[in-house]
Amino acid sequence: MSNSKTGLPGLTSALKNKLIQQALERKLRDAGREPPATPAGGRKAASPVPEAYTRFDQYPGYRQLRIMSDGAARLGVRSPFFKLHEGTANAQSSIAGKTYINYASYNYLDMSGDPVVSQAAKDAIDRYGTSVSASRLVSGERPIHRELERALADLYEVDDAITFVSGHAANVTTIGYLFGPRDLVVHDELIHNSVLQGIQLSGAKRLSFAHNDADALDRLLAEQRHQFERVLIVLEGIYSMDGDYPDLPRFIEIKRRHQAFLMVDEAHSLGVMGKTGRGIREHFGLPGNAVDIWMGTLSKTLAGCGGYIAGETALVEHLKFLAPGFLYSVGMPPPVAAASLAALQRMLELPERVATLQARGQYFLARAKAAGVDTGSSAGIAVIPAILGSSLRATRWSDALFEQGFNVQPILYPAVPEQSARLRFFIACTHSQEQIDRTVQAMQILLKKL
Ligand code: PMP
Repeated sequence: MSNSKTGLPGLTSALKNKLIQQALERKLRDAGREPPATPAGGRKAASPVPEAYTRFDQYPGYRQLRIMSDGAARLGVRSPFFKLHEGTANAQSSIAGKTYINYASYNYLDMSGDPVVSQAAKDAIDRYGTSVSASRLVSGERPIHRELERALADLYEVDDAITFVSGHAANVTTIGYLFGPRDLVVHDELIHNSVLQGIQLSGAKRLSFAHNDADALDRLLAEQRHQFERVLIVLEGIYSMDGDYPDLPRFIEIKRRHQAFLMVDEAHSLGVMGKTGRGIREHFGLPGNAVDIWMGTLSKTLAGCGGYIAGETALVEHLKFLAPGFLYSVGMPPPVAAASLAALQRMLELPERVATLQARGQYFLARAKAAGVDTGSSAGIAVIPAILGSSLRATRWSDALFEQGFNVQPILYPAVPEQSARLRFFIACTHSQEQIDRTVQAMQILLKKL
């Protein structure tokens, strides 16, 4: 071997290796790190791996987290995360022995904790146990799964539905499985993380359009559609950060014209929109088949845990046999499926809860606006932000309100852009006008102080 490659002419290869090793060790020592152990038997040492790649505390995300939480501690701001709720969380919740007016849960129709829903879960435990212990395809299927899926399909007036053990996983595996590298997925810029993860998994090209801007989508598809095989458009029924909703009929017209599939995530619109809580479809008076993929979660209005996809038989059967997140994952625990089924039935029996929720949302929005709070584009149905302009200010407001007996979560960068950091109020049908009045009064005072 020519020595010129190492830049060390005239040295024996043993001496050359020794010098390289010594230089390397010096470099590591200077950087405050131990050199790697020389392998036994005098074999050439493996090239050193930067220590950052071997330690969890060196991950950039974790380091940023530490900087932010240490900074907050230095400023005397308590962490607003992982608060321990000691019982059922609805309009009120007990945290560390104190009762708070609670705006941090998605128990929109008060179904989690509803005695009928709880009894259904208990009965399912007595009948089926607490777990089905296997994928439904092999031996995890129970009648309660089919009953819940039938009820969801009926709700949307579509052929069938499939439930997954997580709402997040429902989006990841559905999009990840159905689309591939020759396809395009276009989404509203404020779409939920689970959709983004699904697109990443699929390998499809991803493009976003400005929030709720149907014209921007139309232009984008006019330019791009012809380059791809399948195209999926993904929207939310109610956007979880802003509390507004898309002009769905307009998006349906666009998706038809461009021959694309349309998926709507109803995590925050089921139970919240429409006269009887049937969601954005009911709000606009649309037939079930106007949207190709209806998605929703069981964790919010439906008082359980999991996600669903509803649509035509070919879609649902496809996912049941082939989507990895269903095929290789356990079926929903029977008490959870039973709770969600009972909550769905109760939602339809009790439209007054939906009406109260909508009225309280409107009341909160009107009062907050009148007090000078920036509520962004919220439609005031169930999600109402108070936009505060910085993560620090949002954390301070959350802390100050907590001191006064109000539990509301701040939404910080990077969940939203820093300048739109906010508090996010989730309204439940159990919030009273008096509770809302007190909350808005507290914010009005904070507007002058913080
Ligand atoms: N989609 C949206 C729009 C959501 O807001 C969420 C979670 N809040 C999910 C999907 C994931 O649902 P889950 O928490 O039930 O897994």
